[in-house]
Amino acid sequence: MLVRIIPVGTVSEKLLKEVSGGIENTLGIKTRVMENLVVPKESYNALRRQHDADKMIDLLCKNQVAQYIDRDLPALFITDADLYADKMNFAFAVEDPVYSVSIISMARLRTEFYGQGINLYLLGERVTKEAVHTLGHQLGLEHCFRPTCVMSPSPSAGDVDKKQKIMCRDCEVKASKVISLPR
Ligand SMILES: [Zn+2]
Ligand SMILES: [Zn+2]
Repeated sequence: MLVRIIPVGTVSEKLLKEVSGGIENTLGIKTRVMENLVVPKESYNALRRQHDADKMIDLLCKNQVAQYIDRDLPALFITDADLYADKMNFAFAVEDPVYSVSIISMARLRTEFYGQGINLYLLGERVTKEAVHTLGHQLGLEHCFRPTCVMSPSPSAGDVDKKQKIMCRDCEVKASKVISLPR
C-alpha cells in the first residue's frame, strides 16, 4: 500500500517529512509526498472565516492536479486552512470514503492558535497523530476509547497530546487484518 500526501497551500517540507516518517514507522505504509495544490477559493465561507472541508475535498479531487487520486489507495491532504464540517465548529481531520481521501487542517493544531508560543515539534507530533488516526479510519477502524490509543477521538488539541502515535493492542489486531504493521 502507498499513501499519497498532498500539501494544500503552505506546508513546510520539514513537517511533511515528519508526517510521512511517522506514517511509515507506525503503520508500515509507504508514503509519497506530491506537489502542492492551491487552497480552493470556492470552499471558503467568509462569515465563518473557515473552509468547508467536504467542499474542499470535492474541489481538490476534481482539480486537474489531483487526477492521480486513486480510489483504491488512500490519499492525505494536509492544509493550513481552518476547516469545518457539517455538525462541527471545526475539524482537525475529515475523511471522505468515496474519494478515499482525508484532509487534515493544521490551523488548530498550532500552539499559537491558543495564544501559546510557536512549537513546531508539537505541531509535527499532532499532525502525525491525526494522520495515523484518519488513515486508521480509512483502513476501517472505528474510534477507540483508550485515551492513549491513536484511534481515540480528539475533540481538542489537548486530547491529541494525550494520545500516542500508535494503536493499542486491540486496534493493532484489527488493523493487522488489512495491513502488516511494523512490530
Ligand atoms: Zn476519528
Ligand atoms: Zn485502540
